[in-house]
Amino acid sequence: MNWYQLSEEEVLDKLAVNQKVGLTKEVATERLKKTGPNQLEEKQKASLFFLFIKQFQDFMVLVLLAATLLSGLLGEYVDAIAIIVIVLINSFLGFFQEQKAEKSLTKLKELSAPVAHVLRDKEWITIPSQQVVIGDIIKLTNGDRIVADIRICKGEGLEIEESALTGESAPVHKKITSIATEDLDYADQQNMAFMGTLVSKGTGVGVVVATGMKTVMGQIADLLVQTKAQVTPLERRLADLGKILIVIALILTAFVVFIGVWQGHPLYDMFLAGISLAVAAIPEGLPAIVTVALSLGVQRMIKKKAIVRKLSAVETLGSTTVICSDKTGTMTENRMTVRQIYTNQRLIQVTGEGQAITGNFYQDQEIVPDRLIHAVLMYGMVCNHATLTQKKKLWQVDGDPTEGALLIAARKANLSEDDRNNFKIIKEIPFDSERKRMTVIVEDNQKKRFAITKGAPDVLLPRINYLTDDAERRPFTSKDKKEIEEKLNVMTEQALRTIAICVKPLNADMSLDHTSIENNLTFVGLVGMMDPPRKEVKKAIKACKDAGIKTVMITGDHAKTAEAIAKQLDILPLGGQVLNGYELNHMSEKELADRVDNVYVFARVTPAHKLKIVQALQAKGHIVAMTGDGVNDAPAMKASDIGISMGKSGTDVAKEASALVLLDDNFATIEAAIEEGRNIYENIRKFVRYLLASNVGEILVMLFAIALGFPLPLIPVQILWVNLVTDGLPAMALGLDQAENNVMKTKPRPVKEGIFSRGLGIKILTRGLMIGVVTLLAFMTAYQNDPAHLTYARTIAFTTLVMAQLIHVFDCRSERSIFSRNPFQNIYLLGAVFSSVALLMVVIYYPPLQVIFETVDLHLRDWIFILSLSAIPTVLFGFTKGTAKS
Ligand code: ATP
Repeated sequence: MNWYQLSEEEVLDKLAVNQKVGLTKEVATERLKKTGPNQLEEKQKASLFFLFIKQFQDFMVLVLLAATLLSGLLGEYVDAIAIIVIVLINSFLGFFQEQKAEKSLTKLKELSAPVAHVLRDKEWITIPSQQVVIGDIIKLTNGDRIVADIRICKGEGLEIEESALTGESAPVHKKITSIATEDLDYADQQNMAFMGTLVSKGTGVGVVVATGMKTVMGQIADLLVQTKAQVTPLERRLADLGKILIVIALILTAFVVFIGVWQGHPLYDMFLAGISLAVAAIPEGLPAIVTVALSLGVQRMIKKKAIVRKLSAVETLGSTTVICSDKTGTMTENRMTVRQIYTNQRLIQVTGEGQAITGNFYQDQEIVPDRLIHAVLMYGMVCNHATLTQKKKLWQVDGDPTEGALLIAARKANLSEDDRNNFKIIKEIPFDSERKRMTVIVEDNQKKRFAITKGAPDVLLPRINYLTDDAERRPFTSKDKKEIEEKLNVMTEQALRTIAICVKPLNADMSLDHTSIENNLTFVGLVGMMDPPRKEVKKAIKACKDAGIKTVMITGDHAKTAEAIAKQLDILPLGGQVLNGYELNHMSEKELADRVDNVYVFARVTPAHKLKIVQALQAKGHIVAMTGDGVNDAPAMKASDIGISMGKSGTDVAKEASALVLLDDNFATIEAAIEEGRNIYENIRKFVRYLLASNVGEILVMLFAIALGFPLPLIPVQILWVNLVTDGLPAMALGLDQAENNVMKTKPRPVKEGIFSRGLGIKILTRGLMIGVVTLLAFMTAYQNDPAHLTYARTIAFTTLVMAQLIHVFDCRSERSIFSRNPFQNIYLLGAVFSSVALLMVVIYYPPLQVIFETVDLHLRDWIFILSLSAIPTVLFGFTKGTAKS
């Protein structure tokens, strides 16, 4: 038996579900227990043990372990054990860092997991797709990714794109009738919808017949390509850099060993010192710290309501030069209230706020009788998908806010749900942003048929031939047209969103084809509604401007409405242009690219125009962020450098095409994400600087000492300890640093900018050199004072190196002067520095560790000497440039 061969009733019967009620919560829970969650099983993840062992794959660590074995064989047990312990701790740290990165990535995936709209206990609810069970009645809407295998029961122009399953990208028209043929291919099972495919048009309702691994997709899941771990361009660049640094570190180390042996140091000592130095100098922790910094930054973004779907977006955010944003809902609240109506030759003001059903209709301060406004409001209520529900005393709109506003206005004029139900809907031609209009064909109580069309006035005006005037129908004159255009002007200049409402009487035998229905219309009225800008958006747009980022408004609304709102939000500067969709149609890509830099508002656009806009901006060298919510927005979002989708109102298709999802659909969240993105990048620069300057210091002190004929200033365990404690913890803490107060005051970072640009390379070399020099000075002074006490001189060198790095870490927090930042702001860094100092004390003063680390007690005057030297690299360079506090 195949599901597609059964009739709708048979399917529902077999699955024991009523189409009007859905499953009860109890049955759904029971079924979920029985079949398990509705998800495809992922391939076995790498085991924790494997992840731990992976830490030892590093070539240099293996060499170090071999060398340790050698020293063990030579009887140097203390050295051998100490080195092994340090390597183990290092591996644990690496392991935890990777675990953390892995976990936060999984959490991200869960956050952006799809949801489903199912009928349970007579109520439509939204649940995570994993909880969908067999027998669930499920709603399919344009833009949904289908979450299970479904037998379709109802469909309005339902088309599904099944390329994920069949490879065929042309959408398939769906039907609801059963098909008798045996053994049909999936592509031919026209009354079925399969998991993983996409609703590209229309709406429908179906019943779930298979979930999880039992779906068609589940059966072929093994063939699916597993998604690879994402590597961001920055991570790739740093990995490449790591390879170069390995070579440099190895050459320098070999050089140190060579000179050491030449100067008469024992070969074995030099070998172990060389290996330890190589391990310390190679920034093997860098990739893991970068991933942790990225994923922690991403978690901070979640708190600000932005979900990063592609890690590379974090970097792109910092380079974004233009944000193209939808207006309705993103820059405005999408809380529509009808403010003006033009009907029966009267311009009427409507009072009352938001969703409260209180308010009146006035013309010149006089209340207008309901009779004059009933027609326009009645038709607005019938040609409408939204519903009103009363929760406690508040009314709530379910559906499109534009339509909700029409329902509220109708209620204010005492029209009720019963009045709406007097009309039976026979056919509907839905609204979409391409057509900018919607039509329903209805029959009233007297079986009279007519069409109601509502839509953008400039789209409907050319289709109007008649007009109703105090219930009389008469031909539409050019004077009427002028009058309407004037009123339209009045409304749009006040930033009102406008809708024209028209009717058309139909004969019973007339074709219901929409090309003929939506012509020869009779004008009933204009409605103007207010959608206030979101409060926080103006500030966000200003912040973007200060950060060198241009904001462009893209909207389906009328140019004048868009312009008025753009002015309120300070998007449109003096001399800035507004372009509309009609003009865009007549422009070549080149013409658009030539003008695009001066255009700040694109009005009356369709989603197809968005792609053209992205391409024109990119042709001018911009890095473009583009928002979107519908299926048709996906191509432009994919073509842009960073696609941004709406978490609340966006379709699955838009979300999948995006790199960033705004949980609150709010423009201000984009600005917050950009700030965070820039900060993450700056933090990565901070710890790259810290780690590399420390490594340069470590290598140079060894190199200089040996070249000058001194004994080794640091022994292998000391070098490894520095690598583990002083380098690791503070670097991680720098990854968590707060943004400098100037991250949103600088220009976007060029995409091609290397990590060492803006003086970072020089800073690393100069600070590293100074750290090496002061450590060497400390060592030489102590050694020359008392050559018999090499251990003492080494303790001094070791402590100076550690302290110089721990002081330098504060300088790394800023590209400007060390004093530009409050040192107590980053508590993680303070914690890391204090624990490093505490561990240093233990190593210096705790007798058993003194044996292992070959240290001796230090006295106050030693500390004064050490601290004055170790402060030099930071004090010397730290006074440069600005001192603004952040
Ligand atoms: P954006 O979200 O990109 O800022 P938008 O949502 O304002 O744009 P559309 O939804 O495409 O753009 O609306 C364009 C025009 O279509 C509106 O100005 C209005 O005149 C008309 N319109 C909007 N919603 C409806 C609807 N539900 N029925 C009929 N006409 C509508």
